[in-house]
Amino acid sequence: WMRDPATQAVMAALEAAQPGGSRFVGGCVRNALLGKAVADVDIATRLLPEQVIAAARAAGLKPVPTGIRHGTISVISAGRPFEVTTLRRDVETDGRRAVVAFTQDWREDARRRDFRLNALYADFDGIIHDPTGGLSDLDPCRFVFVGSAEDRIREDYLRTLRLFRFEAWYGSGSPDAEGLAAARRLKAGLRSLSAERVWSELKKLLSAPDPGPAVALMAEHEILSEILGVNGSLRILVGIINQDISAGLEPDPLLRFVALIGGGPERIRIMAAKLKMSNAESRRLQGAVDPSLCGEVEAAFTDMAAAERAIMSLGARAFEDQVRLSAAGDVAPPPRDWTLLAKFAREWQQPDFPVSGGDLILLGYEPGPMLGDAMDALKAHWIAERFEPTKEELIARLKH
Ligand code: ATP
Ligand code: MG
Repeated sequence: WMRDPATQAVMAALEAAQPGGSRFVGGCVRNALLGKAVADVDIATRLLPEQVIAAARAAGLKPVPTGIRHGTISVISAGRPFEVTTLRRDVETDGRRAVVAFTQDWREDARRRDFRLNALYADFDGIIHDPTGGLSDLDPCRFVFVGSAEDRIREDYLRTLRLFRFEAWYGSGSPDAEGLAAARRLKAGLRSLSAERVWSELKKLLSAPDPGPAVALMAEHEILSEILGVNGSLRILVGIINQDISAGLEPDPLLRFVALIGGGPERIRIMAAKLKMSNAESRRLQGAVDPSLCGEVEAAFTDMAAAERAIMSLGARAFEDQVRLSAAGDVAPPPRDWTLLAKFAREWQQPDFPVSGGDLILLGYEPGPMLGDAMDALKAHWIAERFEPTKEELIARLKH
């Protein structure tokens, strides 16, 4: 990623403004050292935000002041944003948002970061700078707070959730005991976080390839009950994770969330409101626990007509979610084959209902509730008969 032309263009722009004044930092350096994929590139710089803007423009790149109050300019290169942030030191804080001042000192910048592994810098020649001792956390990989765990959490309670998120993604199963103990002691502070930040962080955590152990750790340290009000069911979550792994699927944080918290529509409704989920997310979750067709979903494992009825009423997405949750909860081996049902649902095309309101009006029905009821009854019969009855048969049935 350092040799990528888009990255090179940003590096060249910053070097032209101040040679040696900028370094890679955060996830890109950490992941490169861990041998993991690098998603986004963060750069720390001695240049002030206005200087970063000028340097980007001079090089023909587009600067966007995404977080200028915190010193962050997104420099767009080949359509991708690179976050360039002026070196900062914390001055005061309210436990939710740090107030910052700029500095020229790399060590001060490192001290305001969350974990030692996230405070590694790489200059543009590839030389690593490690002001806080992060290199010693690489193997075994663990996330140790910079300085006092308790102080760092009090400054920003989101760091507790970031701890579990990074453990979920990169941890090697030997988390830092001091950090965990501090997170548990200070769990009440999580209530001060906005719902949006909690939910966004939870989704990132649940998107890890295998977040099971980190979620278990969160339950054990009473973090889950603090943010969700329930500890959730690890068993179903692990079932879904195993499905993802065995079928080679992308992690699906929403399905994993339903698996974790379980319960019916009422619990989901409360949870969606509490976490301020989007309408689309909330609808997806409601569909996954909609109990109205649960008998058909169970039957779907052996009876394709039941599968069709359930897909028809629930939609393919909710049907697949319910099938997966049901299979994940199964204790009896061998596991029923949910992948075939999911494929069937995705490919299934609903046939067009052959009778229209106009047909019934020709039969003498008045537009209104009676006509609506007759249509519903016909449709139910048509679904029950696997969409086989023709228009003529359906109308004959109605006359009869
Ligand atoms: P990734 O981008 O892979 O999610 P990251 O470590 O790059 O991981 P970002 O949220 O992009 O995470 O933040 C970049 C860097 O900024 C972090 O590595 C860390 O040094 C610092 N940072 C981000 N959020 C916080 C925070 N809440 N408290 C302290 N430092 C933070
Ligand atoms: Mg990052």
